Amino acid sequence: MASAARVDLDGNPIKPITICMIGAGGFIGSHLCEKLMAETPHKVLAVDVYNDKIKHLLEPASLPWSDRIQFHRINIKNDSRLEGLIKMADLTINLAAICTPADYNTRPLDTIYSNFIDALPVLFLIFLAVAVGKVWDFVVEIDVRFFYVDCLVLKVKYCSENNKRIIHFSTCEVYGKTIGCFLPKDHPLRLDPAYFVLKEDDSPCIFGPIEKQRWSYACAKQLIERLIYAEGAENGLEFTIVRPFNWIGPRMDFIPGIDGPSEGVPRVLACFSNNLLRREPLKLVDGGQSQRTFVYIKDAIEAVLLMIENPARANGHIFNVGNPNNEVTVRQLAEMMTQVYSKVSTEPPLEVPTIDISSKEFYGEGYDDSDKRIPDMTIINRQLGWNPKTSLWDLLESTLTYQHRTYAQAIKQAISKPLAS
Ligand code: NAD
Ligand code: UDP
Repeated sequence: MASAARVDLDGNPIKPITICMIGAGGFIGSHLCEKLMAETPHKVLAVDVYNDKIKHLLEPASLPWSDRIQFHRINIKNDSRLEGLIKMADLTINLAAICTPADYNTRPLDTIYSNFIDALPVLFLIFLAVAVGKVWDFVVEIDVRFFYVDCLVLKVKYCSENNKRIIHFSTCEVYGKTIGCFLPKDHPLRLDPAYFVLKEDDSPCIFGPIEKQRWSYACAKQLIERLIYAEGAENGLEFTIVRPFNWIGPRMDFIPGIDGPSEGVPRVLACFSNNLLRREPLKLVDGGQSQRTFVYIKDAIEAVLLMIENPARANGHIFNVGNPNNEVTVRQLAEMMTQVYSKVSTEPPLEVPTIDISSKEFYGEGYDDSDKRIPDMTIINRQLGWNPKTSLWDLLESTLTYQHRTYAQAIKQAISKPLAS
């Protein structure tokens, strides 16, 4: 429960604030809402087009936090109600995005619009929320999509004393590929961390050619990061940028044919969970050689809470949030998930647990991949003292226990349906 005596990292009492959380109904948003309701006195104005993943926080009205969370079904592309919510909030957190790799090369326009164009009005509504009242009234009727241009034309002068902040969710994918991957396979420098550890203030962003539309997401995210950073540098915008490194856990994405489209391709955790639940081999794209570090969502949410409650330490920073100790190849992830799922479901593993598939067959033309993603933790350690705690085995055990409990029955029914009819 919320406690009155909570203090920040510098020992100052934490004042309750109002947070406008855009994309609150998604995977990360749902865990952040849960944390804020259970452990803090803050209010959340939860904005999304869906609320299934936060229904348990919204109903029944007798929940102890029911006066601290409101859901607003708003599509930020075209709903002027967003202005009022941002104006009411001390902090805006923007999580809204198309962020599933299967979409980057097949729906590149939607991906670029979602991750860049649709994020612009959010940024400028924050400026307007602190702008002089008459400017606010003047622009209030304008389509939010054109706010950026309108604001530039009006040269809105906003006052930074109002303490309006934004925490914007970017991605580790802005790093793209590592420098090391361009070295010959057996080159000794491939083992040197300088060639693969990703540092916020040092590493370059290395994307493939334009034909590889996979990079449309990373590029859109990079441009919005650059815009936010420039607004901070030139106009004093108080911002924090988060670069999540494969946060995983319960409620991530969907299981195709159960709570999402049958033909949909979610991120790897849900793809492999779906295979395990259906007792089909896990598909390894291009041999499953890419490497990832996975962090437990509950560890990562601790980091976000520190950012929320320590503005003086978080403002103006870009933070990697990941677990450098949980690195595996995708093949190793598949093997570990197979073992863990067998344990939690008490079903024997398949005799042939994995099959290889080409990226062209799995994702279509224009797919490409990040080879390796190890976050450098210096900045988040120094500013917020945060460290991830949960091992890959433990986080998979709790996540796959949830997947089994939530979906096993529905999958059994779905599989038996065609036979019965
Ligand atoms: P998610 O897809 O579960 O959540 C995104 C939410 O945004 C969804 O609920 C969606 O309905 C909402 N949304 C999208 N467009 C919207 C619109 N126009 N109006 C209103 N709501 C809209 O994804 P997530 O994993 O929770 O990711 C959240 C953020 O973190 C994204 O910006 C993503 O790029 C970033 N990120 C996440 C990870 C990760 O490991 N989960 C990794 C890298 C980056
Ligand atoms: N992947 C895979 N099989 C699947 C789904 C994904 O081999 O069924 C691979 C994908 O090619 C990538 C990695 O798993 O190398 C992680 O994919 P994810 O969709 O989680 O997103 P990313 O980390 O690439 O952003």
